[in-house]
Amino acid sequence: MKIYLDSIGCRLNQSEIERYSTQFKMAGHSLVSTPSESDLVVVNTCTVTSKAAADSRTKVRQSNRLNPNSRIVLTGCWSSLEERNALDLPGVTDVIHNKDKDDLVAILLGIAPHEFDKEPVARQPIPGIRMRTRAFIKAQDGCDNQCTFCITTIARGSSRSVNPQRIIDEINAAVAGDVQEAVLTGVQLTSYGKDLDGRNNLKQLIQRILQQTNLPRLRLSSLEPWNIPKNFFSLWEDSRLCRQIHIPLQSGSASVLRRMARPIEPVNFAKLLETARERVPDISVTTDIIAGFPGETEAEFTENLEFIQAMRFADAHVFTYSPRPQTAALRLPDHVPSKVARERSRMIRETVAKSKTEYAQHFIDKELVALWETAKKLDKSGWEVSGLTDNYLRINSIVARNMLNTLSTVRIITVGKGGIQASVIA
Ligand code: SF4
Repeated sequence: MKIYLDSIGCRLNQSEIERYSTQFKMAGHSLVSTPSESDLVVVNTCTVTSKAAADSRTKVRQSNRLNPNSRIVLTGCWSSLEERNALDLPGVTDVIHNKDKDDLVAILLGIAPHEFDKEPVARQPIPGIRMRTRAFIKAQDGCDNQCTFCITTIARGSSRSVNPQRIIDEINAAVAGDVQEAVLTGVQLTSYGKDLDGRNNLKQLIQRILQQTNLPRLRLSSLEPWNIPKNFFSLWEDSRLCRQIHIPLQSGSASVLRRMARPIEPVNFAKLLETARERVPDISVTTDIIAGFPGETEAEFTENLEFIQAMRFADAHVFTYSPRPQTAALRLPDHVPSKVARERSRMIRETVAKSKTEYAQHFIDKELVALWETAKKLDKSGWEVSGLTDNYLRINSIVARNMLNTLSTVRIITVGKGGIQASVIA
């Protein structure tokens, strides 16, 4: 069969279709880069916001329009929570619920899931728009917290960890596929190992990856600011661990955090960042923030904005609160008018943009290591490349040859509206 894979939303969804890609190939099928060429389309849907849910439906309709003969199978958070609506979409024949999604390929091919327990084949990027230079590796799924705005914990269920040896095998398969950087993903990574034998928490897993693989670069995806293992930041003594941590704040107001049912106080969040910055100089701290959470008063918003300013984030995903079905926040009083909520988002983005520029300017004339993720041939003057430094600066450069998917030492030259320009020095 010719299979087209697509996903919306988080890195975890990306890591899951990357695993499907390897499994379909192990079973003798091929991957194609557009729905038009496919016999089967698999879409990993999302519902973290109402827009993500709408984007999921749009992708399905587009696939069906491009190839009405191709069978469409849905999985992921939107289709798991709205199975009836999902099956009503044109071309959709099956919905694989999130609780079964790890066995999606085995279910669709009617084979035993353990067939894939063999050594995974060397990773090859998924063809098409989901092609990624970096490999996304699933380490954990689900969450035991009940943040009142969050639909992910409802859609993905309780926290569960992937067997550490399986993670090592997938990273080795990625390295065999010439991957330079892997991103460890999960819903609530810091709860890794809780359901295992007690000898594997997130710190021990990262140590194991760095000891047992030749992976040049490891990056961590989102880490909730609680359950951070003891002495966690000593891990960064290994320069293969990217100097970036993404720690969702959601709000800098203590009373809003309580209404969100998030077990963290702003003062402890600030202490965590202080420790990280002490132990890992120049570390990039990025975050998620929700503006206009139900009941957010002007005073709470001011408290939130001042806290965000004080934290000097290197970047942030800023969301305007999106009411999600089945979440407790939906039933909270005093929802903020959307016009006010959007204005608050704009002000937060403006504040983050300042600290983001300051963080990047701090590296002018300094050396960093970049992984080139895109390369475009220019006429006679070489190649235009763009990539990511270990501390998550998106940079551009003009080079003499195609340096796609290679690591090189660069010097940061300028930081401006057009982006960050760098020169390759080795
Ligand atoms: S920690 Fe909160 S926001 Fe994060 S996945 Fe769990 S419930 Fe959702």
